[in-house]
Amino acid sequence: MKNKEPRFITQGPWLSDQHIDFRMKVRSFAEEVIYTAAFEYDREERFPQEIVEAIGKQGWLAINGPKEFGGSDADFMSFVLLVEELARVDGSMAGTVAAHNSLGVNLLNSFGTEAQKKQFLPGLCTGKQLWAFGLTEENAGSDSRGTETTAELVDNHWVLNGSKLFISNASNPMTAGVTIQAITKVEGNKKELSAFIVPFDTPGLTATRMRNKLMWRGADTAMLELKGVKVPLENIIGEPGDGPRITLGALDNGRLTIAAMGLGLAQGAFEAARSYALKRKQFGKAIGEFQAISFKLADMLMRINHARAHLYQSVWLKENNLPFANEAAMSKLYCSEVAKEVADEAVQILGGRGLLKDSPVERFFRDQRILQIGEGTSEVLRLVISRKILKEE
Ligand SMILES: Cc1cc2nc3c(=O)[nH]c(=O)nc-3n(C[C@H](O)[C@H](O)[C@H](O)COP(=O)(O)OP(=O)(O)OC[C@H]3O[C@@H](n4cnc5c(N)ncnc54)[C@H](O)[C@@H]3O)c2cc1C
Repeated sequence: MKNKEPRFITQGPWLSDQHIDFRMKVRSFAEEVIYTAAFEYDREERFPQEIVEAIGKQGWLAINGPKEFGGSDADFMSFVLLVEELARVDGSMAGTVAAHNSLGVNLLNSFGTEAQKKQFLPGLCTGKQLWAFGLTEENAGSDSRGTETTAELVDNHWVLNGSKLFISNASNPMTAGVTIQAITKVEGNKKELSAFIVPFDTPGLTATRMRNKLMWRGADTAMLELKGVKVPLENIIGEPGDGPRITLGALDNGRLTIAAMGLGLAQGAFEAARSYALKRKQFGKAIGEFQAISFKLADMLMRINHARAHLYQSVWLKENNLPFANEAAMSKLYCSEVAKEVADEAVQILGGRGLLKDSPVERFFRDQRILQIGEGTSEVLRLVISRKILKEE
């Protein structure tokens, strides 16, 4: 194997030459098409449809989508590299692409029937559509059993009522539909939760964009209202009661992509801090020559390398059909915490300039914050990991 990994990425056993070429392709795209625009759409809090469509044209809005429906059919490692390289430049686009692929295309492809796949995947594989995932509600955050949205059988249809909060990709012109978790039965204090396909043009479904976010200001995050939303019987995914199996399955994969966002963001922040440390002179020398600064850079890169090794190992477990849920939780937790530490140190290295909106690290400092909250908060992930430790014989 040739060693072609870019600087500050250690060659490991996980990536083929094709993966490394793919990384470089995404990197060039992100630097050429996204880097400059990201400052502007972040400031304006604008969903950059033209950029999401350009990403779609590359085949990256169905990166793991099956060939028969027009998807790119790449392996999961390529998806992780895609998200990592987008996040190295911009969190909003990394989040948009990750949520759509893992909680949209991949969820429908893994859990949908053949008929559902035939109906919805070809559109999603054109790269012109986005799919959303509606789990979170006012009273259902970390505890998704708090779901209050209901789905009732009426006249051979499912009729959904309720609302959802913080739903990615759910209120823009590319949104084609959303997967909704809803209660289908209550017995005593036990809820039966199921997952439904809801096309975006179904009467009774309204979406409102949530504004004034700290981070991911270019990403679309929405509130959904479902009032008598009527979908055919065959729009249930799996069987009644399969909701938790489907959402938890999707989230195990999703956590690997949140980890990739943390890793890419940390890489971007490290590289920006390093170039600044080489250029900025104080007391007659480059600040990188002060040990206080060079040791920070050493610690940043060490953490990034550990995070990458752990994440790629977790992806390897998944791709080899070995248990990976606990490792995915660890990767997500670790990479998101590395992102926090590295972005913070990068701001410190840039001094006052790191606090300005036109600095490359100010957005990293804000964008990293969601990574410790979305798809399992750090506290909940520690619960998941510690429960597994205590269960082992
Ligand atoms: C930008 C953005 C995009 C999002 N996209 C989506 C999406 O596409 N689809 C979707 O369904 N959701 C989405 N979410 C929602 C996200 O997944 C939730 O915010 C997350 O699950 C946490 O839920 P919560 O915000 O209600 O916090 P809560 O669950 O209310 O947690 C609040 C605090 O309590 C702690 N806590 C809760 N339970 C425990 C416990 N048992 N032990 C210890 N501590 C605990 C948490 O760790 C946290 O610190 C998104 C959120 C954001 C901000």
